Amino acid sequence: MSSFKTFKAKVVTAAALAASATLALSGCATGNDDAGDKIRIGIKYDQPGLGYQDGKDYTGFDTEVARYVAKELGYNEDQIEWVESPSANRENMLSNGQVDMIFATYSITNTRLKSVDFAGPYFVAGQDLLVQKDNNDIHGPEQLNGKDLCSVTGSTSAKKIQDKFASDVQLVQQNSYSDCVVALNAGMVDAVTTDDIILAGLGSTKANQGQLKLVGNTFTTERYGVGLPKGSDKCGKINAAINKMVETGEWEKALDKSVGESGFKYNQKLNPPKLDNSCSKPTQDSK
Ligand code: GLU
Repeated sequence: MSSFKTFKAKVVTAAALAASATLALSGCATGNDDAGDKIRIGIKYDQPGLGYQDGKDYTGFDTEVARYVAKELGYNEDQIEWVESPSANRENMLSNGQVDMIFATYSITNTRLKSVDFAGPYFVAGQDLLVQKDNNDIHGPEQLNGKDLCSVTGSTSAKKIQDKFASDVQLVQQNSYSDCVVALNAGMVDAVTTDDIILAGLGSTKANQGQLKLVGNTFTTERYGVGLPKGSDKCGKINAAINKMVETGEWEKALDKSVGESGFKYNQKLNPPKLDNSCSKPTQDSK
């Protein structure tokens, strides 16, 4: 890069920083008790049906619930600033103030509850396996002996494999599940493991359709919470918004619009979750 270009880049960066500082300030200085000018919402960018960046659009069930909740908190769609929140970065992004809320297939766990709060859950999924269409030997976690598996750093899915199957399974960890699917398609791993609803979305994209299959034998319970900074006072309002979304039928509509085409059927015993107006508390069963 020429020195002129370097200089120009620096000026642009400084201007951008100044602009975002102004935004951040104006976000605080508001008469409204909750709503500022913008709300920064962390989502996944590469999980079709859940959180997906499609050009300028952001699609998927997580984004639909996020929009609904944001609206109930007093924010219109044009006040939402979407921020990519990979699995391994979520707690840090909330603690550092990089985002205000996270809707990113984010399971409520006791470990995470030590550093962040959760409203919700707004959906309950289960860990499952995605394999190549012609794979006939993996029917569930019992057949993982000697297999190569891919999952994502910082996820409950990788942790489960490390805790329960470490001696038998070769676990490859990537930054995202879409990277895992590339490895599966290339025959570099035997299976991808994470939540069933995520795998259903990835397996039904145009590129993967007919190539991959969801095993359909879940072996964990994943309660998707709304990640919040520790000490947040928004849990009650968010839970009320989620309850309203369920009661008005918008929850079901959003789910159908987002993952209906993949053929995914959610667990009707566990969904939709019923909420009171407090934050999720640590429980004995979720690590
Ligand atoms: N729900 C699991 C988790 O929060 C797996 C999906 C993900 O990594 O986002 O870790």
